[in-house]
Amino acid sequence: MIKINNLTKIYQSKDKQVVAFDNINLDIGEGEIFGVIGPSGAGKSTLIRCLNLLEEPTAGEVIIDGQDITKLSTYKLREARKEMGMIFQRFNLLKSRTVADNVAFPLEIAGKTKREITIKVAELLELVGLADKANNYPSQLSGGQQQRVGIARALANDPKVLLCDEATSALDPETTHSILELLKKINDKLGITIVIITHEMEVIKEICTKVAVLDKGTIAEHGDVIDIFTNP
Ligand code: ADP
Ligand code: ADP
Repeated sequence: MIKINNLTKIYQSKDKQVVAFDNINLDIGEGEIFGVIGPSGAGKSTLIRCLNLLEEPTAGEVIIDGQDITKLSTYKLREARKEMGMIFQRFNLLKSRTVADNVAFPLEIAGKTKREITIKVAELLELVGLADKANNYPSQLSGGQQQRVGIARALANDPKVLLCDEATSALDPETTHSILELLKKINDKLGITIVIITHEMEVIKEICTKVAVLDKGTIAEHGDVIDIFTNP
């Protein structure tokens, strides 16, 4: 599903270079829940941003569904980005829009009709358990509920992959658990491949099947979660 080949990202500032990561190789299978764990500064955010080309890698390939997205034209890149939904630590919802209108936003951009949007938004809010909050504003919701809106929005254009950037780091353990349960359900029901970056080992242990440990810009270890972490 996702193949990362010899991927390198170097930030170029005026007077110095910062290596975010160097020569990384990863293979993420279709339908997997793949975790990337590592301390702050390890390169996790940069890596996930290279997967949907919010950030341009310095060298290497990101092959998604057989096509190298680092070589796409702007138009094709826009199409490819629709295959990647993303959720964030701070949810990134639009304050001035209701829950339903936040979820509708990517559908509007994609040029869907009003009727298509109404049906899809209702279906997504049902999936994330927020059908009764459609007309509320983000400020009226708890953190966990806001992240559910983020998830619904990320799924709007039927992506093949859901990228989660520290998606539970702003939430308490109980809410984290319920969000992870929802991600599991989405993986199970819709068959979407999920990539999770986090600094929290509990998150990886709870839902990931595979994990890569990123440290100072290189993969220190990777494999099945049960092989990498000792129990309990
Ligand atoms: P993590 O998500 O694991 O905390 P990041 O990917 O944010 O790691 O950062 C990896 C390294 O790249 C750090 O040294 C960070 O300071 C640096 N970095 C991240 N973004 C930028 C940027 N836009 N410009 C320069 N350096 C950056
Ligand atoms: P995260 O929690 O994702 O690691 P950071 O605080 O590291 O967040 O980074 C927040 C933003 O600042 C990101 O867009 C990142 O690219 C940018 N950034 C991080 N480190 C640097 C840096 N050394 N120079 C410039 N921008 C940076």
